[in-house]
Amino acid sequence: MTQHHDSGAQPEHHPLLGRRVAVATMHGKEAVLVPPLQQRLGIEAVLANGLDTDAFGTFVGDVPRLGTALETARRKARAGMERCGTRTAIASEGSFGPHPSVPLLPLAAELVLLLDDELGLEVVAEDVGIETNFAGVDVTDMAAAHAFAQRIGFPSHQLVLMVAGEPSATVRGIGERERLDALLPPLLRRHGIVQLRSDMRADRNPTRMRAIARAAERLAERVACRCVGCGWPGYGAIDVERGLPCAECGEPSELVRAVVHGCARCSVRHEVPRSDGRTSCDPGQCSWCNP
Ligand SMILES: [Zn+2]
Ligand SMILES: [Zn+2]
Repeated sequence: MTQHHDSGAQPEHHPLLGRRVAVATMHGKEAVLVPPLQQRLGIEAVLANGLDTDAFGTFVGDVPRLGTALETARRKARAGMERCGTRTAIASEGSFGPHPSVPLLPLAAELVLLLDDELGLEVVAEDVGIETNFAGVDVTDMAAAHAFAQRIGFPSHQLVLMVAGEPSATVRGIGERERLDALLPPLLRRHGIVQLRSDMRADRNPTRMRAIARAAERLAERVACRCVGCGWPGYGAIDVERGLPCAECGEPSELVRAVVHGCARCSVRHEVPRSDGRTSCDPGQCSWCNP
C-alpha cells in the first residue's frame, strides 16, 4: 500500500461544499436525487427545466436508448450543465431486462452519476436487484388485463397500453381503474390484442423511485467520502479481490474475498471484507475439492 501526496495537505472543506448542481432529470426524480447530497454537502440544486430526458430513450420503445446506461447518464448530465450554466450535474438512468442467469426473473438497475468539470470528477453509484414490476403482457380480454394490473401493483403503479405497429395508439400513465376500463374495450374490439406494460417512469412507479433513492443515497455517500491521502472526493469501491479460501482445503477459490476501495486520483487503496461476513467458501465451490 503506497500513497503520495499532491501539492500540500487536503483542503479543510469538501471541494463540492455548497456547489450549484444541475439536476438533469424528469419524472420527479429530483425528490430522491437531491436530498442526500444536500444533507451531506449543502449543494444548491438547479432543476434543468425544459430538458427532455425522454429524448435520450424511453421504456416504451418509441425512442430507443443509444449506448450504455453510463453513457446515457453522462449525456443527460452534460445537457443539464449546459441548460443550467453549472459545472456540476447529477443524472440517472435505469435499465430493465431479463435476469442474466434466471431468464424468467426481471432485473432492474438504477445508475446515478455526478459529474464535476471543475475538478474533473465523475462518481457513479448503482442499485441492482430483482425488486421491480417491469413486465408486459398481450391481452385479449378485460379479465387478463385486470390480472396483469394487479400483478404490477396497479393503481399506485401505473400502466401503459400499446398496440403493435401503431405507436400513435400508445397511452402512458394510466393510474385509475375507470380509465383502464374505458380505454381498453374499444382497443380490444378494434385490434383483438392489446399490449399492457408497467409504466417505468419514476413518478408513475414507486418501486422504481425507491430503487433510485437507494442509488442516490449511495452516490451521496461516495461523493462525500474523501481519500485519506489527498482529499479527493469519491473514495470507494474500485475493484474486487478473488480467492475466498475453501473451508475444507484452504485453497483460494474464484469467489470474491474482499472489495478494494481506492482513490481515483492517487494510489491509496484498502481492502474491505465481504459485506456478508463470509471468510471461506463451501468445498462444492472449490476447484480442488470439487474439480
Ligand atoms: Zn477445497
Ligand atoms: Zn487520493
